[in-house]
Amino acid sequence: MIPMNERILVVEDEAKIANLLKRGLMEEGYRVDVAADGVEGLHAALSVTYDLIVLDIGLPEKDGMEVCRELRAEGRLTPVIFLTARDSVHDKVVGLDLGADDYLTKPFAFEEFLARVRSLLRKAKQKADSRLLFADLVLDTKSRRVERDGQPIDLSTKEFALLQYLMENQGTVLSRMDISEKVWDIHFDTTTNVIDVHINRLRKKVDADWPVKLIRTVRGAGYTLGQD
Ligand code: CA
Repeated sequence: MIPMNERILVVEDEAKIANLLKRGLMEEGYRVDVAADGVEGLHAALSVTYDLIVLDIGLPEKDGMEVCRELRAEGRLTPVIFLTARDSVHDKVVGLDLGADDYLTKPFAFEEFLARVRSLLRKAKQKADSRLLFADLVLDTKSRRVERDGQPIDLSTKEFALLQYLMENQGTVLSRMDISEKVWDIHFDTTTNVIDVHINRLRKKVDADWPVKLIRTVRGAGYTLGQD
């Protein structure tokens, strides 16, 4: 099957390689943009939603590792495949630590490059199905992991369900009644404070250590996620 319309950013300063990758990827049906230096590449990666970024490490203005680091610091989880002329284990480890998803050493066969691209896009699609995002918060319904700014957060079953419900309903204020029905599957007496207790526990884990608080109380209405 031809992967239609998936959008790829190629950040590569060597025009010859950039053109080769662009042409080859377009022949496979991908939409491709090219940036020739790190600053331009980071700007493009932050302004457009790409399905994949092909990132050369040796780039003018800002090197590929720095671009990847800043991208992840902004909470962008776009899959990144590094291209590099270097092939030392050190570079590879640093690259993967920075949040790159794959690594290819130049020179490489275009067929191998394409296979890596297809594999990363497939993985990203599987992941995307199970992952909820809000600001720098990530909740994976499949692995049942929660992270904020890359740091794992340990939640109880109920706290997890509560956060999942809030993340699935971004932009909506959820009343205590909504929450008790969906998360506890029962109606609480309106005088009970079970939900408030759980919200407070969740806040301690999700918000207490960060300057931006994500769980909001809307007076007289309920709870919602927000950031200023
Ligand atoms: Ca280069």
